[in-house]
Amino acid sequence: MQSIHIVIIGGGYGGIRTMEHLAHNSHIAITLIDKNPYHYMQAEVYDFIANKVDMSHVMIDLPSLCKSFGLVNFVCEEVIQIDSDRSEVITPTQTIGYDRLIIASGSRTYFPDFIKGLREHTHGVKSIPSALDFKQQFERSLLNRIETQTQGCDVKPFNIVIGGAGLSGVEIAAEMAAYANKFYHNGNFGCRGVDVYLIDAYETILYGMDPFLIQSAYERLIKLGIHVWHNNRISEVHAHDIVLDNGKHLDFEFMIFTGGIAASPLTQHLGFETNLKGHLIVDENLNIPNQPNIYAIGDITSALDENGKFIPPTAQLAEREGEHVARNILRTLRGKSKQPFRYKNQGVMIALGGEYGAGLLPGGIKVKGYLAYLIKKAIFHFYSSPLRHRSSIGKRR
Ligand SMILES: Cc1cc2nc3c(=O)[nH]c(=O)nc-3n(C[C@H](O)[C@H](O)[C@H](O)COP(=O)(O)OP(=O)(O)OC[C@H]3O[C@@H](n4cnc5c(N)ncnc54)[C@H](O)[C@@H]3O)c2cc1C
Repeated sequence: MQSIHIVIIGGGYGGIRTMEHLAHNSHIAITLIDKNPYHYMQAEVYDFIANKVDMSHVMIDLPSLCKSFGLVNFVCEEVIQIDSDRSEVITPTQTIGYDRLIIASGSRTYFPDFIKGLREHTHGVKSIPSALDFKQQFERSLLNRIETQTQGCDVKPFNIVIGGAGLSGVEIAAEMAAYANKFYHNGNFGCRGVDVYLIDAYETILYGMDPFLIQSAYERLIKLGIHVWHNNRISEVHAHDIVLDNGKHLDFEFMIFTGGIAASPLTQHLGFETNLKGHLIVDENLNIPNQPNIYAIGDITSALDENGKFIPPTAQLAEREGEHVARNILRTLRGKSKQPFRYKNQGVMIALGGEYGAGLLPGGIKVKGYLAYLIKKAIFHFYSSPLRHRSSIGKRR
């Protein structure tokens, strides 16, 4: 087998999984490039925001993880360009050559321009700094609320707004409401606490997902006291007030937006074909068209199934794509042809605040309540524990 150098851009769910599947091959040297020195497990961020865990719980140290594999070099820089003619990746300080390249640089929050003021006045949770800001502001808001109630309970409502009732919006709304309820209960604060609003333009929350998940999540959100406003389109956002397109206004203390994702900005400079939100178009082998040595996986792409139907971007999808690309690279090194990517969804689990969840397991098995919560935690444990173990080995080297 010939020796090759593989460069992976992005140490997220997809990039790390690709690295794990290639790193044990002595013919392959790998360079993983990430602009941050950590892997951010954003699918678990709701626990961090709700103070159940500290920041380290959602981070894995990338330098020590890479070191544990021996032949993996880690570069902590932002990739700014790819020269596919010269097979080079360009960062602000260096140029790195590759034989195969995997682009796995993920996504960012998409702020539609037609919602005036959205970008300026809302928070996101797609990075550790933004999740930390959000968590600190949430706690500060709880304290402010208590302090304004010293002269009695008759103060204006204290609203937290979440725009977008997809998977991340629902999970965050549920966890924040559960946290705020517990905070008020534990402190025996007599006045009314915060009000959480979950607002979405579609006719249901979790639009497009299984009806069991929609119904279970809806019932739980209502039980937690969340105001669920579906079929409501946000048209304008001001510093502390949103306007809906039916003319209704809602004051808020702070707002986060989880209404969609766009590809990481890197794709704007590459000259490769993208969709309107900058997601890279890939062929059935997950290659950039006409670039047999360049693959793209995860949130940075717009993935379609064999019937041409859009597959929603998830950590699970990014991981399956990473495994597939690794297999295809190994196949080509053995002189075999590539195989097309076929996605088999292995189920979905949703955290719904406190120790409650809902989900669909393989075979369509439906679970909700404490059992679903435990299964979700077990999935995270099986994902994160091997990575933590490896990074502890790397740290000792
Ligand atoms: C609140 C929330 C809850 C979620 N819940 C779930 C869930 O329950 N289940 C599920 O399957 N999915 C969930 N997701 C979605 C999931 O997190 C994403 O689909 C997943 O992170 C995509 O993986 P990725 O590898 O494509 O990108 P990411 O994990 O985002 O990794 C991209 C990496 O690329 C790096 N990077 C970006 N640009 C550059 C550059 N120019 N140069 C160098 N490095 C760069 C970033 O620093 C990052 O480390 C959730 C997401 C959120 C926000």
